[in-house]
Amino acid sequence: MKHDISKKLFEEAQKHIPGGVNSPVRAYRSVGLTPPFIIRAKGAYVYDADGSAYLDYVGSWGPAILGHAPDDVLNVLGQTIKDGLSFGAPTPKETELAKLVKKAFPSIDLVRFVNSGTEATMSAIRVARGFTGKNMIIKCDGAYHGHADYLLVKAGSGAATCGIPDSLGVPTAMTEHTLTAEFNNLDSFERIINTHGDDVAAVIVEPVMGNMGCLPPQKNFLKNLRKLCDKKNIVLIFDEVMTGFRVAFGGAQEYYDVQADLTCLGKIVGGGLPVGAYGGKKEIMQIVAPLGGVYQAGTLSGNPLAMAAGLKTLELLEHADVYRGLEHKTQLLEKGLTLASKKAHIPFCFQSVGSMFSFFFTGEPVTNAARARQANTEKFVALFHHFLEHGICIAPSPFESGFISTAHSLDDIERTIHVFELWTRRSTE
Ligand SMILES: *Cc1c(COP(=O)(O)O)cnc(C)c1O
Repeated sequence: MKHDISKKLFEEAQKHIPGGVNSPVRAYRSVGLTPPFIIRAKGAYVYDADGSAYLDYVGSWGPAILGHAPDDVLNVLGQTIKDGLSFGAPTPKETELAKLVKKAFPSIDLVRFVNSGTEATMSAIRVARGFTGKNMIIKCDGAYHGHADYLLVKAGSGAATCGIPDSLGVPTAMTEHTLTAEFNNLDSFERIINTHGDDVAAVIVEPVMGNMGCLPPQKNFLKNLRKLCDKKNIVLIFDEVMTGFRVAFGGAQEYYDVQADLTCLGKIVGGGLPVGAYGGKKEIMQIVAPLGGVYQAGTLSGNPLAMAAGLKTLELLEHADVYRGLEHKTQLLEKGLTLASKKAHIPFCFQSVGSMFSFFFTGEPVTNAARARQANTEKFVALFHHFLEHGICIAPSPFESGFISTAHSLDDIERTIHVFELWTRRSTE
């Protein structure tokens, strides 16, 4: 496969854009390659500047659940664009999208649209703090909630240690109210809450962790977390930026039958355009300006094109069959890859919820970030190279989730399994 044109484009980009990319993971550093430059995408495939087609499991990092550039969404956008690009005034489509979001998430009475997942989590935390009058927040080790200062915190060594920033440019004062617990470990939350409970405003979790690979919640973990937050008057925030409209139409809240106080959305809700959202119970959300004293605003928020793309996408997703079909394809992939790795005696663990998945080169189920970090990453990198050479694109890190779309065919899944088999045979020869 040729990469000459992409390489040239990457060199040029690096002269003008930090690392040549507008989001770090796109630079392919963790797999020691330079990224293909994509010029077009349709269905389950992306096409690069050198003329190669790749079967795509990245799905724009989540939004492309209907495959790339679905005709119905493109048609709506073509119509909508004729009426103008941005008005900075209320539009009917915002209410329509809000209604559909509420239909999917019964825990939401009021929802505010923003432009990214980062804005959604940042605003939800401001709301939780404004509503409770408390300062502390608890997040999980390894969870990604966007790049707000006080959320860029990994774990301290002890579960209850105060946060140390992951990024330069974040004063420790910004993260001293961030506490880190362990996913799937209720005790770690209880310990922190017993110590800091009176000043904990919110617990924020990815209900299925998707930014440390795909880590499903263990039985009753979310329900018990719900009970714990109720008992201590802590706002429970589900960051469903990845899981919302992905694991089920109503996100992880529907899939696991648990309700959050505040929900953050992004990715799919914009149908490929930049949209985020946060919403929840009326008693909490009515603190948002202009109703209440928590300020949050956006020049392009509720943008008509973005609303139209989100609305059409959610309308197309509103059928249960969509999710059953997606899950079926994920299971076929799981079966195929697991069988091939077993035959080759390669420790391998496929984890998925609905159509989000990841795999780890380890024999044990991966239940939290610490375990994810222990999996073999060299094998992952080798497999990544092999997949790319055979025209299959997965995320360039074992700590990212992959996504299957309605546009992936059974043949696409079969081919992926076949290419994987080829690799297992080669790597054991
Ligand atoms: C992607 C993601 C975000 C950040 O969203 P952006 O639109 O990239 O700012 C936040 N939380 C979760 C769970 C995500 O997957």
